Amino acid sequence: MSDLLVARTRAELDAALKDVRTGGGRVALVPTMGALHEGHASLMTVARDEVGPAGAVVASIFVNPLQFGPGEDLDRYPRTFEADLAMSRDRGVDIVFAPVVTEMYPDGEPTVTVDPGQDERSLEGRIRPGHFRGVLTVVAKLFGMVRPDVAVFGEKDYEQLIKIRQMVADLCMPVHVVGAPIVREADGLAMSSRNRYLEPDQRLAALALSRALHAGVEAQGRGPDAVAAAAFAVLREAGLEWDYVTVASPDLDGTPESGPARLLVAARLGSTRLIDNTAVHLGPDS
Ligand code: AMP
Repeated sequence: MSDLLVARTRAELDAALKDVRTGGGRVALVPTMGALHEGHASLMTVARDEVGPAGAVVASIFVNPLQFGPGEDLDRYPRTFEADLAMSRDRGVDIVFAPVVTEMYPDGEPTVTVDPGQDERSLEGRIRPGHFRGVLTVVAKLFGMVRPDVAVFGEKDYEQLIKIRQMVADLCMPVHVVGAPIVREADGLAMSSRNRYLEPDQRLAALALSRALHAGVEAQGRGPDAVAAAAFAVLREAGLEWDYVTVASPDLDGTPESGPARLLVAARLGSTRLIDNTAVHLGPDS
């Protein structure tokens, strides 16, 4: 396909995808909430690699009210649509699907939603009740509308990636889920649309998250408790209000004593909440 098409409705999306579907091309979806940065752009590149030049890359831009809790940043979430289109065009996206809320939820909040499982065992779910229900529901709807062969998600939102894989497996959705590595600023801060909320002093303090991950990796040979303690020490030293510092198995089901694992952190800087994570390899052979 060539040149960027913008679809605002399901009907426009279907029309935009018609040729590629009838021609047998594959479709890749990159779901986003806009305010695009290089992290999103990397997903678009992965999506293109997955479907090749004859396929179609669809980026959705939708700030999904269902995944925001009361008092969260739905109203102030950054919206930079023109710049998003420029970035999408630049990265070879074929279709930007940018529905309004009433297109996605014509009858208001849906009656049937996707249950993410036990919130009390979830890192983000415990702190943001209802968040993953909102995420999984909108992703399921996007899968139904776009009918992608492949969908690309960032490891930046690691627990989200795991939940989406679980949904696809548990509900037998015919979509191949691809995870893409975290893209960082030169100084280590994981790129995020929310970084633009940060005041200069908070931006500096936010570096403690990636420094904490680095400290955790340095301690990986000494096991999960040492990893968590090393990461936690950095956050405490920096005076950050943390939500969690956790070491878990790669599928976030329990904590192994050795082998591959994930270190995940979440902290607040004023009213801005940031998350980050990294792979670790626990045990003496690391
Ligand atoms: P968002 O617009 O924040 O909902 O993110 C849309 C997608 O981009 C999600 O799959 C995120 O995990 C991914 N993403 C956001 N930031 C980054 C990053 N720094 N590196 C890689 N992927 C990212």
